[in-house]
Amino acid sequence: MDIVLASSNQGKIKEFQQIFDNFNLSVMPQDILGIDSAEETGQTFMENALIKARHASALASLPAIADDSGLEVDCLNGAPGVMSARFAGENSSDEENNQYLMELLKNIPIEKRTARYHCTIVYLEQPAQSNPIICQGSWEGIIADVSFGTGGFGYDPLFIVKDFGLRASELRPAEKNKISHRGQAMAKLMDALSSRRMRPE
Ligand code: IMP
Repeated sequence: MDIVLASSNQGKIKEFQQIFDNFNLSVMPQDILGIDSAEETGQTFMENALIKARHASALASLPAIADDSGLEVDCLNGAPGVMSARFAGENSSDEENNQYLMELLKNIPIEKRTARYHCTIVYLEQPAQSNPIICQGSWEGIIADVSFGTGGFGYDPLFIVKDFGLRASELRPAEKNKISHRGQAMAKLMDALSSRRMRPE
């Protein structure tokens, strides 16, 4: 079955591709089909994931998977949240977002730098579907004061994984996918998809 992935974020696409391979799913990123990103006008991860999935599904005439994800820092009242990709401004790079976050937290002691990644994944078969599958995952950590490591993407060089003592950027891709917010949400989606398929209509 072909599915369109409603994302143009290369870091995310790479991670998703590995997860899809593990589950034997054939999924095409929207760019390959010439589909541009939807405008993320929602206030929550769930609203944005639905917007993206509906947009890609309508333009591709295919079932769609979309994720909306981001970092929530407790001492910043949950920011950057849905603004994670554009924290330092519209079209900001990962590097600029990380610099901005380090600057905001520069006087905050390590024990108050608690944070988590959150991911909401939506799967729908067609844009107007009234019962899309919605799955969530979250991953706890602490924001370091210096970035380190070359793996992953986004805030990974600053995200020290709780109980691991390593940054997300130091994990191998398969290790990150096993425990990350995205990996958890995808595992739930796979369970939901298989039980929906087994259910008689
Ligand atoms: P979205 O594409 O609007 O969902 O924005 C996601 C943004 O959240 C990314 O651009 C990153 O800044 C951040 N983010 C989400 N997941 C991760 C992750 O696994 N590692 C690092 N940053 C992430």
